Amino acid sequence: MTKEELKKYQEKLEKEKVRLLKEAKAQSQPEDFGDDTDHFDEESDEAEEIGNRLAISRVFKDRINDIDLALNKIKTGKYGICEQCQSEIFGKVLSIVPASRLCQKCKIKNTLKKIGDKFKITRA
Ligand SMILES: [Zn+2]
Repeated sequence: MTKEELKKYQEKLEKEKVRLLKEAKAQSQPEDFGDDTDHFDEESDEAEEIGNRLAISRVFKDRINDIDLALNKIKTGKYGICEQCQSEIFGKVLSIVPASRLCQKCKIKNTLKKIGDKFKITRA
């Protein structure tokens, strides 16, 4: 991978990180629940709402974590290398998902394995 390409991916990753952080912040912004807590229905809605929000922030955390890993790899010169089989990840994959940690082959392999595991569990 050329230096120009690396820089391009780095910028993309940094932009994506800023976007995700902003979005995560907006999602975790506490709402003004007001004073009328005497409606039970509303209270359970609030609990669900908070639960949903926690799930969302976990997704953000994972994605931001992946981006951090990728940025770190750019620094150490390991960017674009599959974590599983150490082969080069195609530029096509990286241009769609710059934080991608696996090559296409390993991704397919892992997906098939997951499906296989699921099948085993449902059969047992
Ligand atoms: Zn691989």
